[in-house]
Amino acid sequence: MSKIAIIGSGMGGLVAGNLLAKRGHKVTIFESHVTPGGYTSGFWRKGFYFESGTLSFESSEDVFKVMKDIGVYDKIQFTRQYVRWIFAELDCLAYSFSDLKKAVLEACPSEKEQLTNYYAEVDRMVKAMLSMRRPSNVFEAIGFPLNLVKTMRIFKKYRNTTLPEFTALYFDEDSKPYRLLKNIAYPDMGASLIGAVMLMFFEDYWTVRTGMRSWADVLAENFKSLGGELKLKSEVDEIITKNGTAVGVRSKGNDFEADYVISASDYKKTFLKLLDDKTLIPQELRDKIEKAPVSESFFTVYLGLNLPQEKMKEYLRKPHVFYSNGRSDADIYNSNDDNYFQKAWVMLYSPSLMNPELAPDGKSSLMIQSMPPYKWMNNWGGGDRETYKRLKDKAKNALIDKTSAVVPDLREYIEFDEAATPLTYERYTHNTDGASSAWSWNPNKRFYEKVFGIDIKTPIRNLYIGSCWANQIGGVPGAINAALECVKKIK
Ligand SMILES: Cc1cc2nc3c(=O)[nH]c(=O)nc-3n(C[C@H](O)[C@H](O)[C@H](O)COP(=O)(O)OP(=O)(O)OC[C@H]3O[C@@H](n4cnc5c(N)ncnc54)[C@H](O)[C@@H]3O)c2cc1C
Repeated sequence: MSKIAIIGSGMGGLVAGNLLAKRGHKVTIFESHVTPGGYTSGFWRKGFYFESGTLSFESSEDVFKVMKDIGVYDKIQFTRQYVRWIFAELDCLAYSFSDLKKAVLEACPSEKEQLTNYYAEVDRMVKAMLSMRRPSNVFEAIGFPLNLVKTMRIFKKYRNTTLPEFTALYFDEDSKPYRLLKNIAYPDMGASLIGAVMLMFFEDYWTVRTGMRSWADVLAENFKSLGGELKLKSEVDEIITKNGTAVGVRSKGNDFEADYVISASDYKKTFLKLLDDKTLIPQELRDKIEKAPVSESFFTVYLGLNLPQEKMKEYLRKPHVFYSNGRSDADIYNSNDDNYFQKAWVMLYSPSLMNPELAPDGKSSLMIQSMPPYKWMNNWGGGDRETYKRLKDKAKNALIDKTSAVVPDLREYIEFDEAATPLTYERYTHNTDGASSAWSWNPNKRFYEKVFGIDIKTPIRNLYIGSCWANQIGGVPGAINAALECVKKIK
């Protein structure tokens, strides 16, 4: 039996904690926040529930298997998530990739030929990803090696191409399809991921009906019932090493000995801040960690509304809506554009439309999200509180005004409003610059060689990475897979 200290109770920390405690290890999870879950959590304000990070997840087969192994699958209300896409005159409730394709073709008749060519290639990518699923019969198993070769060919072809570059191969940059299709995921995501993203949206997009917080709570309770100790409001300030081996952590001035330390938290902070002896990291690696770009963060507006559910349903039709008026000329690479949020895409999510119990009777909730440029406006005001507040209000009002095209007179129904900037996300989760999903999704700015691999190893003996940062593009499945790899390493 080993003594294990886990830093962070996000999905990675909770999964690792549960599996290790189940195997009889003595596990302590240190969490700086007042509630468990990290980005897989949520909060209540005045009777309204809001998600505090992810709204969804994919790779359900793997995720559900782990929940079954832990023994909590039946306690979590997993449910499918579908998206309504509104882009100028395109308004599509897409239940399948074909639905979206059809809607785009109808909305852009003059670009039919380019769209046909574009979708022929995207279809090949989707097919390649589909063929990578675990073979379910002997015929699929026989065909698997050939499919693997085909998939690798596509991956290689677009290895260094970004989503906008791929889209520009088919459309003029001022055309409607270009503006729509270059925005279907992270801004400069690798084109080789398009197949995976399409499959995710249409075949494997899930959420938790009772809110992500309930998922984290179930895992936390289960962990405790297995004898694990969850220390909330317990930030780890230092990882203690001895002769190049992790031997414990320091939190609130106390030292905790451990045979293994799993950092289920931010990668950069683990090595650049928490590690007691920075010289254990070769200088070259330290520089690489410091410079590696991270994934984009979000700006989110949370609204508690005096608007009945039926009305919200009439306006949104589905809890999750992607909306652009089609004129978006927002440049996510321009951090100095004061009016960025007036032009940007928004993603709408109504937790109460997913589950009416998540708002008071007769009322509804709405989250409006947008992806801001990196360190927008001198990182939201350069540290000046008044400027921060002004910029936050400006961004919030811009998103509320924009959303009024979908929910008419939105402002009149507001009972409660709050907003989170990338600085808020960083304050609550310690993820560098509020990174939403680990490292940059840009194929030319990789931290790891592989996009999908999991790398939990560190130069410090018995210190492992058990968070989404063990994977280039993060995500809930990335965090869970990192946890599984950590569990395998521990004797
Ligand atoms: C808006 C948004 C949308 C997203 N959408 C998706 C999606 O559709 N699909 C998907 O798969 N993923 C999505 N993600 C990403 C996904 O939520 C994350 O990649 C994943 O939840 C990360 O889990 P984690 O366990 O690695 O870390 P986190 O959830 O970041 O948890 C880390 C925890 O560690 C704690 N911590 C950090 N440092 C310390 C310390 N020194 N001491 C103590 N505690 C510490 C933090 O407080 C936090 O609780 C989204 C994220 C956001 C923000």
